[in-house]
Amino acid sequence: MEAFFYQGSASRIAFGAGQLAQLPQELDLLGVRRALVLTTPGQRVLGERVAALLGERSVGVYAEAVMHVPVDVAQAARNEAQRLCADGYVAVGGGSTIGLGKAIALESAQPIIAVPTTYAGSEVTPIYGLTEGRLKRTGRDARVLPKTVLYDPELTLTLPTTESAASGINAMAHAVEALYSQDANPVISLMAEESIRALAQALPQVVRNPDDIDARSRALYGAWLAGICLGTVGMALHHKLCHTLGGTFNLPHAQTHAVMLPHTAHYNQHAAPEALTRVARALGGTEAGQVGELLFELNCKLGIPADLHDIGMPETGIDEAATLACANPYANPAPIDYDRIRVLLVRAYRGEVPA
Ligand code: NAD
Repeated sequence: MEAFFYQGSASRIAFGAGQLAQLPQELDLLGVRRALVLTTPGQRVLGERVAALLGERSVGVYAEAVMHVPVDVAQAARNEAQRLCADGYVAVGGGSTIGLGKAIALESAQPIIAVPTTYAGSEVTPIYGLTEGRLKRTGRDARVLPKTVLYDPELTLTLPTTESAASGINAMAHAVEALYSQDANPVISLMAEESIRALAQALPQVVRNPDDIDARSRALYGAWLAGICLGTVGMALHHKLCHTLGGTFNLPHAQTHAVMLPHTAHYNQHAAPEALTRVARALGGTEAGQVGELLFELNCKLGIPADLHDIGMPETGIDEAATLACANPYANPAPIDYDRIRVLLVRAYRGEVPA
């Protein structure tokens, strides 16, 4: 057996339908007396419900979170938090909301309780991102890791099925890459395989019946495990490509991950056969060589757009994306080869089965 390092996450996790009701007690445990509730404009009503639950412990709702945390949005939130003398944050929403909480905590070191409502996984990672113009800067800092995460599947019931499906495959991408990460370890690999299995079982049920709370719970469980994978071991080609595509062409985050995953997993099938056999098994197959096709079929079943064209990628951007993806690549099992990456992008652009 190979040597490895494993660092467990310091977050406290509460999981289960109705767990939102525990929020006041969880704030008490952290000693937070003046919590600012963060969310997106679209989830303001939920933010207000959370603030009402907190009563005097809440100093208000700040519903200005947007995708990729622009620096001016982060600064405005910090100013508002200071004006209100907030001493902690409840980030209720998806990765955009939790990202805003992290941007505040990066400077204030004040605690965040995250209440995720998508499957993105940011709530259990020490990774933050800040965007200035077209440039997104990411980093790791222990101060931004939420101290407590309340996973309440009831809060995901309102996530539309198209968003649920794409967000779930976004989560699965963290687990797939964890299995062939350069710093993979046996504990994270167990979580990754379990995550892929849970998501692959639950997402089709969620799409068929979005009100199925058991399926929603299992999907959120898979997403939690995937988030731990993302926060613990390094990611590879898939995340580099999605980061590049999202940042350069302003493509939607979760959908980009979902369209690309069959292609990037296929790209690595010969270089990481053991890891991809585990992925295949979790998807109901047997061999590494099936993974691209299995993921492609799963996307079709979930009604996820098959191609980058559908989600807003310009055809003229393929060369630029291939060049950017090959510059400063992340460690990846298969060598990063411009011609192969370009072919991968053309197939993803056209919505062709990985080959
Ligand atoms: P998001 O947070 O942008 O949410 C997408 C939309 O869905 C928003 O309009 C939001 O209001 C709405 N929404 C969220 N939950 C809902 C619900 N339950 N019901 C109805 N509407 C709901 O999307 P996301 O994919 O969760 O997050 C994407 C962002 O998170 C990106 O900026 C990405 O880079 C970042 N991210 C960061 C990390 C990290 O570790 N730092 C990890 C994953 C994602």
